[in-house]
Amino acid sequence: MPIIELKDVRKTFRSPQGLPVAAVDGISFSVERGETLGIIGESGSGKSTLGRLILRLSEADSGTILLEGEDVRALSKAQLRKRRRRWQIVFQEPFASLNPRLTIRQIVEEPLIVARTYGSRAERLRRVTETLEEVGLSQDFLNRRPANLSGGQQQRVGIARCLVTDPALVVLDEPTSSLDLTIRASILRMLSRLQAARGLTYVFVSHDIETVRHFCSRVAVMHRGRFVEIGSTHDVLSNPQQPYTKALMSAAMPPIPYNPGTQEVMA
Ligand code: ADP
Ligand code: MG
Repeated sequence: MPIIELKDVRKTFRSPQGLPVAAVDGISFSVERGETLGIIGESGSGKSTLGRLILRLSEADSGTILLEGEDVRALSKAQLRKRRRRWQIVFQEPFASLNPRLTIRQIVEEPLIVARTYGSRAERLRRVTETLEEVGLSQDFLNRRPANLSGGQQQRVGIARCLVTDPALVVLDEPTSSLDLTIRASILRMLSRLQAARGLTYVFVSHDIETVRHFCSRVAVMHRGRFVEIGSTHDVLSNPQQPYTKALMSAAMPPIPYNPGTQEVMA
């Protein structure tokens, strides 16, 4: 059974002028457990909207969305709250997505409190500490606040916050786009390591072809709310069939050397 299955999912917004904008315009696909599906496309092509619809952070207008076999659109608010811990999201701007008034400990602990199934304070602190360690942050960070952290460290906190409840599926919405190159590579290596260790499934939204080339097993090319092409990353990027994919690739920056052998850089 695929972990994600979408059938003809649609979402239309109104532009400020009142015109309909089909942000997601009839999308169907499935993702197997442990896979990384990349979603690539220009700004405004509907990638973030699709990511939010998958997790029901935004309500679809129509279509079917199954996660782990469950009809997400049919879940009650209470049922959805219970499932949240299995289906998580990491955002592009770590600082904007972390509450600046809370300590790192409070930020990472919050999903455990919401889920209500993680026992005592001591048990939660143990989980928070272990998860921070998994993303390369020592106990020294527990009482610090987001503003005192670098961009890379903030994104590690964002990732810890999402992993602390032991999810099966994570939507990564441009998780490294706001970071500079060395830090980007180091965060991507960490995400790969965590995926292998925890058997995670990723949906990886990006506008950067080189990142997708190295990180995703399959890729979907999105344009004006539709998938114009989907297939193995190698096939789609080495031998694009659609004019839009070719145009997107020719507009891309020249390949950035990627060195998977380098150690994760802490920054
Ligand atoms: P991407 O992530 O690929 O840049 P988005 O999913 O953010 O694209 O946006 C797709 C389209 O939907 C854009 O035209 C955007 O302006 C529009 N859109 C997204 N969210 C909203 C919203 N909450 N209200 C109105 N329009 C929106
Ligand atoms: Mg976006």
